[in-house]
Amino acid sequence: MTCLKPEGTLPGETGAGGGDFNAFGAMQPRSPSEAPKDKRNGASVKANDVAPGGAYLPNYNMLTPNMRSPEYVQMSTAAAITLGIMPGKMYRCGCTRCLNLLLTYPEGCRANCAYCGLARHREAERDYADRNFIRVDWPAVPMDQVIDIVANDGEATPFHRMCISMITHPGSDADTVTVMRNWRERITHDIMPVSILSNPTTMTRGDVRALHDLGADIFTVALDAATPELFDRTRGRGVNSPHSWKKYWEILNDARDIFGAQKFGAHIIVGMGETEHDVLTLVQQLVDLGGHSHMFCFFPEKGSLMDHLPATPRDQWRRVQLARYLIDCYGVRVDQMSFDEEGRVSDFGLAAGELDTVIDAGIAFRTSGCPGKFAEDISACDRPYGDSPPSDIASYPFQPIKKDITKIRRQLKL
Ligand code: SF4
Repeated sequence: MTCLKPEGTLPGETGAGGGDFNAFGAMQPRSPSEAPKDKRNGASVKANDVAPGGAYLPNYNMLTPNMRSPEYVQMSTAAAITLGIMPGKMYRCGCTRCLNLLLTYPEGCRANCAYCGLARHREAERDYADRNFIRVDWPAVPMDQVIDIVANDGEATPFHRMCISMITHPGSDADTVTVMRNWRERITHDIMPVSILSNPTTMTRGDVRALHDLGADIFTVALDAATPELFDRTRGRGVNSPHSWKKYWEILNDARDIFGAQKFGAHIIVGMGETEHDVLTLVQQLVDLGGHSHMFCFFPEKGSLMDHLPATPRDQWRRVQLARYLIDCYGVRVDQMSFDEEGRVSDFGLAAGELDTVIDAGIAFRTSGCPGKFAEDISACDRPYGDSPPSDIASYPFQPIKKDITKIRRQLKL
């Protein structure tokens, strides 16, 4: 068993519609269809009502057990391999440093985001716990078992951080609190800090406060889309999904107030139709508020409403990745950079020698996210091959070496 899944369209030089970047006009998602009534809300999982018997590895040929948070959580394939729940090896990675957990329910996520493998429109096609998400399967495991393993490992744990990913479900707010409380009773912040990947749509300021008071370290909001128009098209009315840009910013601002500077951030997917100037202006806005941005390269997730569209061309992605690092971690401002008429970075606002030093250091091209125990600018959340196949890595889940930097420089077209 391996977590490497070379599926979907391979990234290339060409963007959507033959353009040289993924422009808004060419990145239109398909329209979602609603599942028949007898397939909605996890009906078949609940009707079959198979009792879960410990860890469940997604398997499309058997009845999916009736699993529900907070007793059960799903975890990334990389986390399951690192935790010893399933066998496997990852290309050039010994392990992942982030224990990414995902709440789970037979009803699944009630939202319909166009780029996401967990979206509601898939409910006739595949049970929730069997759906792919950021290119990999997510095994389901009893939460008590996860806590036991990590508590027994203590300081020897390979993980630097745990993250609870909420989904859009009526139970998600309360169950996140329960998972957080149960975790904290056995595992201290020093052993492993916790991040929350929130679901603002169902949350109040009080929910944000409760998670902070229980000891969560960092609170993030998955904006995913870089502009209000793109957000509405991919996560809101455009795909019959309940999210709104305004509500996401309301909770983001609550997180800034409650968690404080350097302890909140936003996820952004690059290449869904925004310009490089759009996304880097957002990165600057987050830095000016005291937060950080965690970036993903758009990849056409199999089964999603955008699986017919091309991955972000590598030159577009590399420019944004480098510029994000300069703004987030190196003190360069977006207004020091130059952009061409299509909004593409034409100058990074740094002297050539200094820019070379940053590129050669390679950190800018690693996966971005909440920090681990190595350095503030090295993410614990390395998400191996979550946004690309290993044959053409977008976010490096390890330190790039000389041959990688040579490839990155070629992709940057500097
Ligand atoms: S809310 Fe999150 S999990 Fe649900 S469909 Fe949207 S991106 Fe996927």
